[in-house]
Amino acid sequence: MDLGISGKTAIVCASSKGLGLGCAQALAAEGVNLVMNARGAEALEASAAAIRADHGVTVATVSGDITTEDVRAQVIEAAGGADILVNNAGGPPPGIWSDWSRDDFIAAFDANMLTPIALMQAVLPGMMGKGWGRIVNITSQSVKAPVPQLGLSNTARTGLTGFVAGTARQVADKGVTINNLLPGIHATDRADALDGPVAKGAGISLDEARARRAQTIPTRRYGTIEEFGAACAFLCSVHAGFIVGQNLLADGGATNATI
Ligand code: NAP
Repeated sequence: MDLGISGKTAIVCASSKGLGLGCAQALAAEGVNLVMNARGAEALEASAAAIRADHGVTVATVSGDITTEDVRAQVIEAAGGADILVNNAGGPPPGIWSDWSRDDFIAAFDANMLTPIALMQAVLPGMMGKGWGRIVNITSQSVKAPVPQLGLSNTARTGLTGFVAGTARQVADKGVTINNLLPGIHATDRADALDGPVAKGAGISLDEARARRAQTIPTRRYGTIEEFGAACAFLCSVHAGFIVGQNLLADGGATNATI
């Protein structure tokens, strides 16, 4: 299927590795020019170079922390009028409800709620003016079903979801869609960071911890960044114009719910 987005420009935040990289690769494969971002310049440049070589699209890079106003401004400037925005940032640390201070919550809100909101506010006027735009926020299955040790994520991402629910319906008549893509467990560094403490606590290897977690998922495996990227690219396509304000799970069926 031709997604109809060749020649468009996308900002993909937090995209040197993992799910963000999967989205950047999938969009580039459709001929979309990119602005990629991550804090670590070396990995970012390597990923950008690989995408240029594989897909022949233009890739600008902005290294720096997307939770800062300065880096967000650089990303917006580099895009020069984004058609597509994929919001992403690192996830908050695990713990339990009694662990977290006000500062921990503020940091989680900054990364996983206020930063994507600020970027949406920055690009929406341009997209609405052009009469076309696509925004996908990478959130988490924790929005649909709380992950007990990820209270910071449960909280911040639910706030973002509320903002999107209202805003998506206010901009849809201008040809702009906003949707959230909710990853369940995918084979990335973030999954290792979550599985590591589980392995340590149970006195088992990381591979064994992964294998045990995989058994809890109907697919009996972790998701791949390629699968995730393909779902994101579809939501960014011309064919997804009637999908508005949705929360699409990509979790191998792990969230046990009828709807
Ligand atoms: P990952 O493999 O650790 O990759 C994270 C990417 O984001 C890297 O490119 C990283 O590069 C960049 N990054 C992190 N913080 C950043 C910041 N403040 N500013 C700019 N770039 C930043 O993580 P992932 O698995 O792709 O996860 C992406 C998001 O999905 C996270 O919020 C995570 O919590 C959520 N999620 C993931 C899973 C999963 O199973 N993987 C499941 C549910 C939700 P630098 O470190 O160089 O900045």
